Amino acid sequence: MSSLPSTLLQASQALQKGEVGPEELTARSLERINARDGEVKAFLEVFDDLDEQIARAKAKLAAPNPSPLAGIPLAIKDNLLWEGKRVSAASRILEGYIAPYTATAVARLIDAGAIIVGRTNMDEFAMGSSTEHSAYQQTRNPHDTSRVPGGSSGGSAAAVADGMVLGALGSDTGGSIRQPAALCGVVGFKPTYGAVSRYGLIAMGSSLDVVGPLAPTVEDAAVIFSAIVGRDPNDATSLTETQLAPKRDPGPVRVGVVREVVEHQGLHRDVRERFDAALQAFTDAGCDIVEVEIPLLREALAMYYIIMPAEASTNLARFDGVRYGPRKEGEGVFGDITATRGLFGAEVKRRILLGTYVLSSGYYDAYYRTARRARGALRQSFAQAFAQVDVIATPTTTASAFRLGEKTADPLAMYLEDIFTVPANIAGIPALSLPMGRDTQGLPLGMQLMAPFGADWPLLATAQFIEGVLQGVS
Ligand code: GLN
Repeated sequence: MSSLPSTLLQASQALQKGEVGPEELTARSLERINARDGEVKAFLEVFDDLDEQIARAKAKLAAPNPSPLAGIPLAIKDNLLWEGKRVSAASRILEGYIAPYTATAVARLIDAGAIIVGRTNMDEFAMGSSTEHSAYQQTRNPHDTSRVPGGSSGGSAAAVADGMVLGALGSDTGGSIRQPAALCGVVGFKPTYGAVSRYGLIAMGSSLDVVGPLAPTVEDAAVIFSAIVGRDPNDATSLTETQLAPKRDPGPVRVGVVREVVEHQGLHRDVRERFDAALQAFTDAGCDIVEVEIPLLREALAMYYIIMPAEASTNLARFDGVRYGPRKEGEGVFGDITATRGLFGAEVKRRILLGTYVLSSGYYDAYYRTARRARGALRQSFAQAFAQVDVIATPTTTASAFRLGEKTADPLAMYLEDIFTVPANIAGIPALSLPMGRDTQGLPLGMQLMAPFGADWPLLATAQFIEGVLQGVS
């Protein structure tokens, strides 16, 4: 049995020409999962309705103008609902919970005829950068199984990187699509806030959460994005097509670089070297490199760790054993709720404590309101920087994948993983991570590109151009 084609588009072309059928691609996907997932542990569940899904894909392929996703094996993160199927956000508090409706992003994939083979592991409620906070299993980095895949969409990133599926959905609140994409050597795209509906996404930080694709190439990610983008009456914050900038062709652009990022003291030497080599290659390819300043960039992580826990603690208040998941018995109603909420893992509890603290009377102004004001200022400084450049480039992470257990005892070290990715969530702007070669240990590194609010299509075009340039350097 052969493996899956290495890109989604190759598979799509083969399907549309009839050279291969959805059942064969699905069989290859399952074969890879069976061979590898005992070790990688990317999937929490492989769905049992694949025959039905294959039949639907065949019907879609036989109809006029099939979507390029018809018949393509994909995976979804375990915080996206699909009616009638289990969904747990990798938490014990949702063990056995069955989704009562379908997330819009998932519905759009199904409608395109994609084959969603299963749901992938993640940090509990998407809180983490290593997938070690899953209550169920530890996903490993396919490039070196003693290392983490990143997180929180670590299962999705590992499944794509290992060739088990041709793409996956993740969610990104502070970097959860881009950081695991970088550490696993795939493309991860966080769209503009609101570009993709959040309906049916288990909420973490509602003003920050975005659903987006992980895929082998930029074009593959764009194919998935095309299927899920767009206004949804079920999400009042979702954007219409006209709120996004129009598509354009790939080509050289003005690339902004922030000095304090490049000179960040925690940046690994290998990352700095790869990044500098990439910038040189951009110049050779006709791009202008422009130094930009983004005041308050340094404070973005502090803003994030106030705003996100505030919103997360509010969102998680609903898990009280009454409406969702298992119920534990305690003494009286309050005792039941306390016992049930004891099912949350340590990291989730930490964030609930942080969140309720920054929202409590007496601290609300000092923390939450101040962070909100700073957020407005950061948004503006991004807008000013984008008057001079088309994209801003940074490394996605300060270093390659770390070892299992290396950061679990030190929450702050784990939070610092998000230092370069969090600003885009705070500002609501689109950002993408694409492979930037490997470090001296042979582990993948990622480059992040950020673009103005709504410039998702131009960003994808630029990223496609830059992907070509970087293939020449690595
Ligand atoms: N790693 C970040 C955190 O722990 C981001 C999580 C995310 O984007 N969901 O909050």
